[in-house]
Amino acid sequence: MLKNERRKNMKIAIASGKGGTGKTTIATNLALSASGRGEKIVLADCDVEEPNCHLFLDPVITSSEPVAVQKPEVIESLCTGCGLCGEVCEYNAIAVIKKKVLIFPELCHSCGACSILCPENAVTETPRNIGILEKGTANGISFIQGLLNIGELMSPAVISAVRKAAGSEGHIIVDAPPGTSCPVIEAVKENDFVILVSEPTPFGLHDLTLAVGMVRQLELPFAVALNRCDIGTDELKNYCISEGIDIIFELPDDRRIAEAYSRGEMIIKTLPEYRNLFESCWNEVIDRVVEKDGIGRRVTEG
Ligand code: SF4
Ligand code: SF4
Repeated sequence: MLKNERRKNMKIAIASGKGGTGKTTIATNLALSASGRGEKIVLADCDVEEPNCHLFLDPVITSSEPVAVQKPEVIESLCTGCGLCGEVCEYNAIAVIKKKVLIFPELCHSCGACSILCPENAVTETPRNIGILEKGTANGISFIQGLLNIGELMSPAVISAVRKAAGSEGHIIVDAPPGTSCPVIEAVKENDFVILVSEPTPFGLHDLTLAVGMVRQLELPFAVALNRCDIGTDELKNYCISEGIDIIFELPDDRRIAEAYSRGEMIIKTLPEYRNLFESCWNEVIDRVVEKDGIGRRVTEG
């Protein structure tokens, strides 16, 4: 892809080792500032257990559709009760007790092994709705979010649906779920860059080290965004220095930001003096993806 085209089509994930670090604040404000400068932006809220980008962007939802996965069903007249389906299921979603097959749909990962391997062709698959996918627009931003139904465990399937719906035109900003488990990996994999949001506290450092391990394992380029950068200690910055990790964004602990957040307001609208911070973070990420080898500021001691 040509450099100029590349500058218009990037996938950038915003992730954090835990919730409450300001991940959504950074995702939504980056999206709004880039969109305000004429960039085509798709905001994909993949925090499907608790999507909250909509609280700040206030999108007009224009379509809603179910997200379904295939779940097994047993045709009792064909089943001999041999137990093979229970043995091959890696997720303990099938048990065969006294030759009777019991299926636990919430545990099923829709891998299809039981239906493929049943010697009697006694397992069929039927779609089961586990969440919904919503699309809309907000301030020129294409907005997509997934919502996992309460009690369902298969959030990666809903996240995958959100990412697919986001397409590949324009910049796609992915608001990932918190943590470092399967749903997060589903949201951050195959992105061009990951911004890891953290706070300079002992807990923040602990969660950041886990998140860094995850993106390194996935071999994704990344940098750190520090929220409330002037609280806590220097421990996290020292960690970044020792690991050669760049901090590309620092948002101070400003009471007005917390107040704007509590009212569901966008920082760059309520406190426009912060707009430049988001713009330069965005520009830096774009440059890093284009140049591959990185051009950002390294954290320096002192
Ligand atoms: S593998 Fe097929 S035949 Fe055997 S217990 Fe399961 S459903 Fe029944
Ligand atoms: S589809 Fe896969 S996960 Fe689901 S019950 Fe069958 S073997 Fe288990």
